[in-house]
Amino acid sequence: MNRIGRWARRWYRAWRASRLGTRLAFGLGALSLVVFAIVGALTVELMHDYLNRRLDEQLKTSQVAQVPHLRESKDSPEVVYSWYSAVFEVREGHAVPQPGSTLPNDVRPLARIAEEATGGDLFRTIALPGQGSYRVRACPVETSQNGTAGTVLLSAAPQADLDNTVQQLMLIEVIAFLIALAILVVAGRVVLRRGLRPLSDMAGTAHDIASHDLTATAALPVRASGTGGGAEVEELRTAFNLMLSHIESSLAARTEANDRLRRFVADASHELRTPLTSIRGYADLFRYAAANEPEEREAHLEKIRAETARMSVLVDDLLLLARLDARDVEPPVRPRRMDLTEVAAAAADAFRAGRPGHPLTVSIPEEPVLLHADPARLRQVLDNLLANAAVHTAEGTPVELAVTAADGMAVATVADAGPGISAEDQQRIFDRFYRVDNSRTRAAGGTGLGLAVVHSLVVEHGGTVSVDSRPGRTVFTVRLPLSA
Ligand code: ADP
Repeated sequence: MNRIGRWARRWYRAWRASRLGTRLAFGLGALSLVVFAIVGALTVELMHDYLNRRLDEQLKTSQVAQVPHLRESKDSPEVVYSWYSAVFEVREGHAVPQPGSTLPNDVRPLARIAEEATGGDLFRTIALPGQGSYRVRACPVETSQNGTAGTVLLSAAPQADLDNTVQQLMLIEVIAFLIALAILVVAGRVVLRRGLRPLSDMAGTAHDIASHDLTATAALPVRASGTGGGAEVEELRTAFNLMLSHIESSLAARTEANDRLRRFVADASHELRTPLTSIRGYADLFRYAAANEPEEREAHLEKIRAETARMSVLVDDLLLLARLDARDVEPPVRPRRMDLTEVAAAAADAFRAGRPGHPLTVSIPEEPVLLHADPARLRQVLDNLLANAAVHTAEGTPVELAVTAADGMAVATVADAGPGISAEDQQRIFDRFYRVDNSRTRAAGGTGLGLAVVHSLVVEHGGTVSVDSRPGRTVFTVRLPLSA
């Protein structure tokens, strides 16, 4: 019992460790075995039935042919093949074989059938001791009035031939089925293995990926290659490769975001260090001036104030960008229903007052352009764009501000007739801390965050900002969805 248990466990383990192709092949084999067994049993049964019926017919035909003759002549029965043929005289329930009958040594089983047959034809299958089974047909040749006495013709055909034929059929079937089964399992295994190869390949690709250090690089250069293998395999391969592309692009995005953050922190610290160094320098000068040149003190104090102001603008911008970036804190934008024309008019007035050296042309429609937005933030957007138009162009350069509404969008444009921005710079102009001419713009008080703030604010409002520039005309276009 214990040994059987061990053996069963070993087989179970081997089965669990086997490959899918092998399992499917064996499963197919087991299924075929059941089908073969059913088909085999049915054919054997049908064959057996058919042969039995044929034997019955032969017995009947032979007896029907003999009966009239026997009735007339009382002759001995014909000998057919190796059958037993006998004529029994039945009297008072006892059957006595007549001369000329061929019978086995023990007559009694046949005599008993003959005794029954005075009532009519009958078939029986009996086993004769030492001779196997026999199919017996008995029919009355003559019967008395009450049907209990008379003459009966009895034929008994051996079933050995029939059984042999059926046994041979069984043997042939078993051999044929076993060969078919072996071919099925072996060929099935080969075919299935070949069919499943694309899946093994994909598993190989997955192993390849597992051996990649994804923390070191965002590139994932492995893909499930190959073609064919059936629609499901194709589908799986496509889905697998798509998944890899997704992983690759999200890894790339994450790496890019990390790099950007690192750059941003480095740039921010660098930008903050400059005014801090200046402040420290002016503070030293102030201390020296306090003791030696009191009249210079005010100038140094003014410098310190200017640097501090520059720093606070920078810190404000940094804070605003950080809050716009962080998805989990409340965004620094409080949208409400507002009119863009009002904001634009106020920005234009402030520009005219603050930058009298730049003539401003304003084109604002009479009717309100209603948005669902934060007016203070949109004012900041326009102020930044207008300030740039003044700061990065020569004194006297005309500036235009226009507001229009079309196709569900409000469009605000700030244009200037300045030197323009090169195509290469236009690509990066909205990046944080990007300045076209570092020294010149820094001197003008620029932090390189103005356009980055514009971009983040406009995107936060569901809009877009773009630049189109050539020497003599630079246009910044802000598009925002109109309020419904
Ligand atoms: P900054 O604080 O230096 O103005 P911005 O992000 O606002 O930073 O602008 C980035 C750069 O784009 C500036 O350094 C400037 O060179 C360029 N730029 C912006 N607006 C204009 C403009 N209207 N004409 C020419 N150059 C511009």
